Amino acid sequence: MTTRHSGIGMTSQRTRMRMVERLRGEGIRDEVVLAVMGEVPRHLFVDEALASRAYEDISLPLGFGQTISSPYIVARMTELARAGSTLNKVLEIGTGCGYQTAVLSRLAKEVYSIERLAPLLAKARRNLRDVRVTNARLRHGDGILGMQEVAPFDVIVMAAAATHVPETLLGQLNMGGRMVLPLSSNNEQRLCIIERTPQGYVEKKMDPVKFVPLLPGTA
Ligand code: SAH
Repeated sequence: MTTRHSGIGMTSQRTRMRMVERLRGEGIRDEVVLAVMGEVPRHLFVDEALASRAYEDISLPLGFGQTISSPYIVARMTELARAGSTLNKVLEIGTGCGYQTAVLSRLAKEVYSIERLAPLLAKARRNLRDVRVTNARLRHGDGILGMQEVAPFDVIVMAAAATHVPETLLGQLNMGGRMVLPLSSNNEQRLCIIERTPQGYVEKKMDPVKFVPLLPGTA
């Protein structure tokens, strides 16, 4: 463990448990997801200067104009993605600091995560190593392309807002699999779930949200 594991004050287990209670109050129902949120040390994924605010229900800056999603959003997306089932392969688009990757890694056998910004990916790699996540594979690339060679996935989680559902990604879903993503239209974003059923893709619009935009290419 590194010196960043202070385990005191605002970054303690007790603070994390208070966060879990708040998430429960806000409507997160999946106890498995809540347990994982209580385990993953979120403060280790943000800059040290922000660590004391890591468990508040806010998104925080990651640098490079990107943000780590709030605990509620991570829990909500994970709950929708899991849908009460055990997951085999999960694809995440927008690794950011790797926090949601760490959460997903405790709920799935394998997690694959794509990030377009190289310096952020390097940060995520360090963070995930520090918290000893060993079942996540990170890739520098454009998430819109997915990972055809690893597909199909039980779940695809996208942490950046798209204006339309990327077709390539839908094709990489398992039958019965789900994609959870923020979709924007008319200056409004909503969380969406798209399920692949034998009858076709079924889309459901959920909560209003605020994500950074999905951008093409790498940097
Ligand atoms: N789940 C992340 C949230 C990061 S914010 C966390 O917990 O930290 C969204 C991320 O998506 C940003 O890091 C951004 O660089 C990335 N992103 C945006 N467009 C992308 C694309 N086309 N492919 C891969 N990553 C992308």
